[in-house]
Order: sequence, then structure tokens, then C-alpha cells
Amino acid sequence: MKTIFDLRNVSYSYVGKIDALKDVSLKIGLGEHVSIIGSNGSGKSTLLAILNGLIYPTSGDFYAFDNQITEEVFDSIKDNEFRTYFRTKVGFVFQNSDVQLFSPTVFQEIAFGPLQLNISPQEVTTRVENVLEMMQITKLRDRSPHTLSGGEKKKVCIASVLVNNPDVLLLDEPSAGLDPRTQLWLVELLQELGAAGKTIITATHDLEIIDQISKRAIVMGEDHRVKKDGPTIEVLDDMALLLSVNLVHEHMHFHGKTVHEHIHAHIDGHKHEHGNN
Ligand code: ADP
Ligand code: MG
Repeated sequence: MKTIFDLRNVSYSYVGKIDALKDVSLKIGLGEHVSIIGSNGSGKSTLLAILNGLIYPTSGDFYAFDNQITEEVFDSIKDNEFRTYFRTKVGFVFQNSDVQLFSPTVFQEIAFGPLQLNISPQEVTTRVENVLEMMQITKLRDRSPHTLSGGEKKKVCIASVLVNNPDVLLLDEPSAGLDPRTQLWLVELLQELGAAGKTIITATHDLEIIDQISKRAIVMGEDHRVKKDGPTIEVLDDMALLLSVNLVHEHMHFHGKTVHEHIHAHIDGHKHEHGNN
């Protein structure tokens, strides 16, 4: 498998003092489906921002498509050919849809990326219409993105990335705040895109979805280091690990390979018995 991302001893700290990543070394291959899991503040979003070339390692090296990504070459040089290549290859879905959405209509939002390329307006319209249909949001075409529901906004954000047909998708907590039906839709979409050969890297603390969308899970600890990098099913089986990184608590348990939060009905002094709790 061809390596597309290669991090070597990457550390990152904000404003030179807030640690977000510590000594992270990992490779991601073309076509891999990877979850990055960890509790709040463990460094998931920071890792995605590095992979997307939005920020640069404070120390250590990051290579993408065999090119080292540094601020000097990636950010400063105008008309950098590699940066243009990178931007067409890699798509990023932000955690907060409102950060991503800026156009007056859904159609214009999705058309924005393709219009930057050298393709005819008719071709852009065809592409946008295809993506609207694929995402089942054709009826939202003339709506203002900011008036949509959270789930609809997420679909528009994903559509505005997919319309560029990237090989690599980076998604930051894509299932957060979605209702169960939209969450299921998202899982199926990621499975379809994965089957179509896309590289998909998803940051999440939603353990319910990771075995459905990824074969490999990278576990970030609260110390901002990689605690484990291995098969998703092994990670889900390792209760001690999940407890140590604060991804489960004692009131959670597994059904098969899926984790469920145990719902306690504290009615009339009834207390649910849980092992020896
Ligand atoms: P996660 O996505 O896993 O919740 P983040 O990558 O957002 O974690 O954050 C890692 C650490 O970096 C946290 O301690 C967080 O408070 C800090 N951090 C994140 N973004 C910023 C920022 N823009 N400025 C300062 N500190 C930040
Ligand atoms: Mg985050």
C-alpha cells in the first residue's frame, strides 16, 4: 500500500506552550480507513489540521504524497504547484459546519470549489446537481445554508467537499449532534466512499461507529501521545485501554463489538446493579 501521510516524531504546541501533540509517529496508506479516537483535548483536531496542511509541526516532520510539508514551502510560495495538487487530493469536513459554510445558497456553496477550477459553468452545474442528488439534498438547493438543521448543514458541508472528488477525506467529529437516522446515513455514506477506494480518516469519540467505518484505530491519550495504533476491533476489546484514555467509564458496557452507554432509571430509589458497583 502506498504511504500518503507520514508523520515522524511530530509534536505540536499552540502559542509555544499548550501541548496538543507529543512525539506522534504514524503512516497512513492510500485507501486506508482510519479512526482517530481520544477524549476531548487529546489532540484529534490538531492531528487532522496537520494532515490537512493547515498547521505545521512545532517539531518533527510531516510528509504528504512524498513531499515534506513545511510552512516555508507550503504556505509562503505563491502558486505552489504541490499545494494546488494537495488541495485537489485532500478534502476536509470541519467539526463545526458554520465555520465551513459561507455562501448565500446551498447550490453556490457546493459550486464554489469547482468554480475555482478551469471548468465550464455547465459542467459545474452538472457536478453540483449530481452531488445534490447523491446526498439526497436536491430540495435544499436554493436554501440559505445558515437556516438549515444541523444534519442538513453537515450534508451540505460533505457535499461541498465531495464535489471536488478528493481521494482523501478528513472528517472531524462528523457524527456529533446528528440524530440517529442521519448518523446511520453518515456511516453508510462513509462505507460507500470507503468501498469506492477513498482514504477516510475520521476523528471521533463516538465508539459506536468506529468499527463500522474503520479497520484501524489510532488512540490518543490525554498526554497527547499515541496510546495504541491497531485494528479497531482490538481497540474496542481493550477495556483497560479505553478506560485509561477516558473514552469509557464504568457505566458503559459492550454488546458485541458496539459500546452502549448504560441508561439508568433512577426511579423510586431503584438503583441498577452493575457488577459489584
Ligand atoms: P481534540 O480535538 O482531541 O478535542 P484538540 O486538538 O482540539 O483536541 O486540542 C488539543 C489541545 O490543544 C487541548 O489542550 C486544547 O485545549 C488545545 N488547543 C486546541 N486548539 C487550540 C488553540 N487554537 N489555541 C490554544 N490551544 C488550543
Ligand atoms: Mg476536536
